[in-house]
Amino acid sequence: PLPGMQHKYRETVLFFPAQGQYCHSYCTFCFRWAQFVGKATRFNSNDADQLHRYLAQHKEVTDLLVTGGDPMVMRTRKLAHYLEDLLKPEFEHIKTIRIGTKSLTFWPYRFITDPDADDMLRLLERLVAGGKHVSIMAHLNHPNELRTEVCQEAIRRLRATGAQIRCQAPLLKHINDDPDVWASMWEKQVQLGMIPYYMFVERDTGAKRYFEVPLERTWEIFQKAYQQVSGIARTVRGPSMSAGPGKVEVQGVTEIAGEKVFALRFIQGRNPDWVQRPFFAKYDPDATWLHQLKPAFGEEKFFFEDEYSKMAAMD
Ligand SMILES: *Cc1c(COP(=O)(O)O)cnc(C)c1O
Repeated sequence: PLPGMQHKYRETVLFFPAQGQYCHSYCTFCFRWAQFVGKATRFNSNDADQLHRYLAQHKEVTDLLVTGGDPMVMRTRKLAHYLEDLLKPEFEHIKTIRIGTKSLTFWPYRFITDPDADDMLRLLERLVAGGKHVSIMAHLNHPNELRTEVCQEAIRRLRATGAQIRCQAPLLKHINDDPDVWASMWEKQVQLGMIPYYMFVERDTGAKRYFEVPLERTWEIFQKAYQQVSGIARTVRGPSMSAGPGKVEVQGVTEIAGEKVFALRFIQGRNPDWVQRPFFAKYDPDATWLHQLKPAFGEEKFFFEDEYSKMAAMD
């Protein structure tokens, strides 16, 4: 294990730059909440050499995901220090650079009037020109966030660099627990040239109870929203739980041989072989997270449990 990095899924390394472990706002539903209220040790790195050494040695990695906090609170110069070297031949296997951010809503000026706004756009352009797929992973919870002229200007400027913008958000009670909100958000994203990517299930953080939505309802909201949009917006996946064993998608509630069950699949797995295998849990109207689910059909364990326990013991 290296400080400030997480390599959970074979093809993607998460990097937490020290200067990016802050955010424009501290959302109480954020899964980084523990980090901000001092309940978790700060998980970060300012060691670009270590990042580069690790990536150079791990040819199986195709994606670097820079996350936080919010890496867009960093000065461009700092971000360039981590990213620019990836254009060298020894990093040819790194095809995609993702940057997770809430800045399109909370500080779109990052790409317009900040003193180094243009430098940031030029940096993204250089990465694209050097052959990288650059994806801004935008956190957007509600279509209203996309209404302001300044937000739309930031989107235009980012897109002009050749970067893509993919959109992701948790499903939050009181905020976006309504299929129409998601459908209009995805449509608006497509209209503005962005790509709907993930709907997440609210994670088990400090203030979870206020925001949480039962899994059955998350699926209903997803399904009813998905049914309203054309295939162009159906690039979105979810509702997805980012749990220990992997990202688990709730595919629906159905009945098999007289038993009511949740149909589930791994979108990502600690073992890549788990991905895209359907599995089933007993229907539970109150369940809000994977650990509350029990295997269906009288089985004792889910298919991945023994293997996952061994992995977890070694972490
Ligand atoms: C979601 C996630 C990724 C990226 O998964 P994709 O399916 O490629 O979007 C990588 N690492 C971790 C720890 C994640 O939670």
